[in-house]
Amino acid sequence: MRIHHLNLASMRPVDALDGGPAVPAVCHALLVETPADGLVLVESGLGTGDVARPGELLDREWIDLTAPALSPAEPAVRQLAALGHDPADVRHVVLTHLDVDHSGGLPDFPHARVHVMAAELEAALAEAPSRRYRPGHWAHGPDWVLYDGDGTRWLGVDGVRPLAGLPEDFLLVPLPGHTPGHAGVAVHDGRRWLLHAGDAYFYHGELAAEPRSHPMFDVVQLGSQVDAGRRLDSRERLRALAGEHGVTVLSAHDPWELARHAGDGRTA
Ligand SMILES: [Zn+2]
Repeated sequence: MRIHHLNLASMRPVDALDGGPAVPAVCHALLVETPADGLVLVESGLGTGDVARPGELLDREWIDLTAPALSPAEPAVRQLAALGHDPADVRHVVLTHLDVDHSGGLPDFPHARVHVMAAELEAALAEAPSRRYRPGHWAHGPDWVLYDGDGTRWLGVDGVRPLAGLPEDFLLVPLPGHTPGHAGVAVHDGRRWLLHAGDAYFYHGELAAEPRSHPMFDVVQLGSQVDAGRRLDSRERLRALAGEHGVTVLSAHDPWELARHAGDGRTA
């Protein structure tokens, strides 16, 4: 399977801790070309509606905090077209959670099945409209496919589920704490497991041998978590998956991780 690493929304620049230039935070998404199941989009970022009508779809305080670029070229539906794909071929969208910057692209793929943890949809519907959950992102009535935590054990993590209608190269991996139903999405590319961990951590240094978080990301990370203990447990699981099981783990907003995967040579 071919996997593209995309940035679906540039946001407020983040200082490089090694003294390099600040770099815009990203919304790292995966576009997977499958042999028999069309295109699978992991994460949906901000969508064309958010870019065109931010005052209507997004929360004003959230815009002030994150300073999204709102570039018309960044939504997934635009990047797919630029890659030569038909957006109608996106049959599945898999979300780590329903925060505004992860669910905004849903209206651009109204015919896709949308996979998410049941606890996450329940929390979003109960809380919306709020700074983090924006009902305009699901007002079109997505074809939800919901998962409880009742799954199998995978590389030491409990509650892991295969995704309905997809081969077992795709798994939903519960990683709660940032939100109630937050999960990672594992994809096997034929050689190795790649795990998109969403907002279960924000900075690559958090998974290093000597963990180091980022003070700017921590403002967001600590301010938005719903359960600190579960968040830290989830991060420990990620550290074990990367360190003991050789899983390639990535997060949603770290621009240096995206650069490494997108292969443009930037490191930090
Ligand atoms: Zn996020």
